[in-house]
Amino acid sequence: VLALAKGKSALFTDGRYTVQAREEVKGARVVIGKKAAQLEAVDWLAKQLRGKAVCGIEAEHLSYASYESLRHAMPARLRLKPTHQYVERLRMIKDAAELSRIRAAASLANDVFEAILPDVKSGVPESKLAAEIEFMCRRMGAEAMSFETIVAGGKRSALPHGVASEQKLPQNGFVIFDFGVKLAGYCSDMTRTVHLGAPNARARRVYAAVKASQEAGIKAVKAGALTSEVDQACRKTLEKHSLARYFTHSTGHGVGLEIHEPPGLRALPGTKKKAAKRVRKGRISGSPQGSQPERLEAGMVVTVEPGVYIPGFGGVRIEDLVIVTATGCEVLSRPSKDLLIL
Ligand code: ZN
Ligand code: ZN
Repeated sequence: VLALAKGKSALFTDGRYTVQAREEVKGARVVIGKKAAQLEAVDWLAKQLRGKAVCGIEAEHLSYASYESLRHAMPARLRLKPTHQYVERLRMIKDAAELSRIRAAASLANDVFEAILPDVKSGVPESKLAAEIEFMCRRMGAEAMSFETIVAGGKRSALPHGVASEQKLPQNGFVIFDFGVKLAGYCSDMTRTVHLGAPNARARRVYAAVKASQEAGIKAVKAGALTSEVDQACRKTLEKHSLARYFTHSTGHGVGLEIHEPPGLRALPGTKKKAAKRVRKGRISGSPQGSQPERLEAGMVVTVEPGVYIPGFGGVRIEDLVIVTATGCEVLSRPSKDLLIL
């Protein structure tokens, strides 16, 4: 537990982490307490803060049970207040060292994707391919996967979040691969969709539409652009192909120490008129949950990942990880986006 008050900070942990905390914590005092870390933190805050005060908590990272025990331990003069993405927002713009770590993570995953392609054959279980991807990533130095590896073939490719199952890859159909690695603490994220067997006309049309949509999204990324504009670029392209209704998730998300960080790249919330007015008035970073559009800035790392998911038929998603620059973006996902037929 990290507590901050009036320019002072202290990290509370227990005896299991004595060595690690002393090695890794910079800029905060390390306290190996006798009581539970949270309760030690409460005592410390009570000492730092005189009179009535408000203590912010990270609402997205604190369980209700922990909140209750904090509340019971707090003196009545201290009030708990939920905060949203306070720390995450400080991390939105990456410095040069962070960018090079993310580049390295992306590059490792690029290599693994290319190396796995010879094993992508009909009849192979999705879970076996996922295991091979993960084994290769670890062998090449990844600390962990950034999230559960997605390998979804045939009709299962219509599941936007088709975590690998025991299902075998089809004779003919799409296969979606979505995975990323953690390297030196930083995540990568990429999706490619390949086709097993000769694609029919509909499959070709769907793939071409998603590719065009993804490329339109990439073109819209640059410092100063609104996150909703990137989303809009992707959605508009799919509308032209009458496929927008099958694009059922947001266009992208920030990536860093965590796989999902702000900013989110999504459509304008609420009625479009109202939201546009808010944007014009400059009130664009308002909502704590990050549901409002915001301006991209150089050094942000985001994904652009439109997809089309047609139940009973299959789905296509293409996702690049990019660094926002003043004039556009640096694309970190290297594998080709042309339809790969295996
Ligand atoms: Zn992904
Ligand atoms: Zn993603």
